[in-house]
Amino acid sequence: MVYDAIIVGARCAGASTGLLLARKGHQVLLVDRSAVPSEIPHGHFIHRGGPQRLHFWGVLAEIEASGCPLVTDVLMSMGGSPLVGKGLHLDGVPFGCGPRRGVLDKILVDTAVAAGAELRDQFVVEEFLSEDGRITGIKGRDLRTGHRFTEYGRIVIGADGRNSRLAQTVQAPVYEEQPVETFYYFSYWSGVPINRLEVHVGPQQIIFAFPTSDGLFGVFVSRPVAEFHRFRGDIEANFMQALAQAPALAAQVRAGHREERFYGTADLPNFFRKPYGPGWALVGDAGHHKDPYMALGIADALRDAELVVEAVHDGLAGVRPMPEALAGYEQQRNEQSRPLYYENLARARFTPPPPEFAQIRAALLKNRDQEDINCFMMVNLGLLPREAFFHPENVGRIMQRANVGMATAVQV
Ligand SMILES: Cc1cc2nc3c(=O)[nH]c(=O)nc-3n(C[C@H](O)[C@H](O)[C@H](O)COP(=O)(O)OP(=O)(O)OC[C@H]3O[C@@H](n4cnc5c(N)ncnc54)[C@H](O)[C@@H]3O)c2cc1C
Repeated sequence: MVYDAIIVGARCAGASTGLLLARKGHQVLLVDRSAVPSEIPHGHFIHRGGPQRLHFWGVLAEIEASGCPLVTDVLMSMGGSPLVGKGLHLDGVPFGCGPRRGVLDKILVDTAVAAGAELRDQFVVEEFLSEDGRITGIKGRDLRTGHRFTEYGRIVIGADGRNSRLAQTVQAPVYEEQPVETFYYFSYWSGVPINRLEVHVGPQQIIFAFPTSDGLFGVFVSRPVAEFHRFRGDIEANFMQALAQAPALAAQVRAGHREERFYGTADLPNFFRKPYGPGWALVGDAGHHKDPYMALGIADALRDAELVVEAVHDGLAGVRPMPEALAGYEQQRNEQSRPLYYENLARARFTPPPPEFAQIRAALLKNRDQEDINCFMMVNLGLLPREAFFHPENVGRIMQRANVGMATAVQV
């Protein structure tokens, strides 16, 4: 039998691609060397349109029903007083959620299977088959039974993560590559009753914390990669010392109980890969990886699943030649990813924001106008265009009000 598509990797990129292709009526084989469900030591806060896509696909309600809270509030601190955005929604959907990957990936896989995809988990792909320079299938092994399988597909899609074996096999060209900037350590605590996303940016450090599945609270610390080895010397002490830069958060975390070990990585490359060639395509981290600073990976993977499926469907159905359709996928992926790729890199280099940014934050803190704060937060979270907040009339109004307020305060 020849599948329409074989997808290697059944997590947020692969399972979503399988789900959308199966819904279009294609015969899909989805394989992963991991068990479904299982965890993967990556972060998992989804925002920037991700929850909206999950809602549109009909899976967000299941994520919520799994016990993972949807998040509408965000605290952002830059060393001083924090700003808190409240009740943030996009298209009527809460702006974020942070399900553990065992939960998110399983819901996506189950939905793909319900749509007709075939799943083989604990199945490792060891080799890609090719004929006349075209990828035609996979050779792999069932890790439970040891049986070897050969399967053929009209297209093989690598959703197999940043160290993609498919990308290595086809020598997918890498471009706009940038050095690794940061490392991350993270873990999970019970007994931390915080129901919002917290982002604490300090000198040479960011703390990212949010509620997740099973009543746990995830805390992530990132620092420049040059410090990785020093930090690893005493992870717990260094982590808690870093956390102390956000004293209120640190106190709540200390009052809770750490339920898991610390996970850490400095394998955080920044690159684009050409995501297609004869008989193959790449989606998710396999095709484009970036530092987790702005937590873009999952939302991008969900978006790119839609884009690659549109192209692959057109190619399989004969609407457009496959190479032309996939060239369109690459172009759209790059156009939509590029601005944030470079903004993310600048932030991951801990480049200080321009002074105007601090001034407007100070004015917002002074005015305490929740509508203005929410608008500022929505822009920062990429939920509204920059112009929605940063236009001269709006900024002028906020600054003027803050100055008037200061004068009044002095007179009183
Ligand atoms: C420390 C850290 C923090 C992060 N924080 C966030 C965050 O808060 N928010 C966010 O959106 N993103 C975050 N990310 C990024 C995010 O985790 C990734 O973008 C996302 O996991 C990409 O999903 P994927 O499906 O492309 O690949 P992966 O999740 O890496 O899945 C790839 C799958 O392919 C399978 N596979 C690989 N090779 C084979 C093979 N040969 N045979 C069979 N199966 C194979 C693997 O078993 C794996 O299950 C973070 C990443 C890290 C490392």
